[in-house]
Amino acid sequence: MAQQIPSNCDPSLVEIAKQVCSKEGLDFESLTLHQTRGLLYYWCSTCAGTHPLTDLIISRKKKICTHCNTSIKLYATSNKFGKLRRTIFFAHLDRMVKR
Ligand SMILES: [Zn+2]
Repeated sequence: MAQQIPSNCDPSLVEIAKQVCSKEGLDFESLTLHQTRGLLYYWCSTCAGTHPLTDLIISRKKKICTHCNTSIKLYATSNKFGKLRRTIFFAHLDRMVKR
């Protein structure tokens, strides 16, 4: 199963994404690799590449790329996956705090 999930992605992030998707009435398993990446990854213009959301941290209310310490905007895309990705990211943070 699950060959649509990028291999270098944290399994706990995938788990969160599945929960968020099912709340939104979206079947995570039926997403394409492209869509899955859109949910689990952010684009960093300084690194000129994508990283998993787990590589993003909150510092002084800004989202920071841990690879280059640049502030990242998660709102860049206007499609529905942009909004879902924010939800997934904050659910992930929530889990980190509670751990
Ligand atoms: Zn970066």
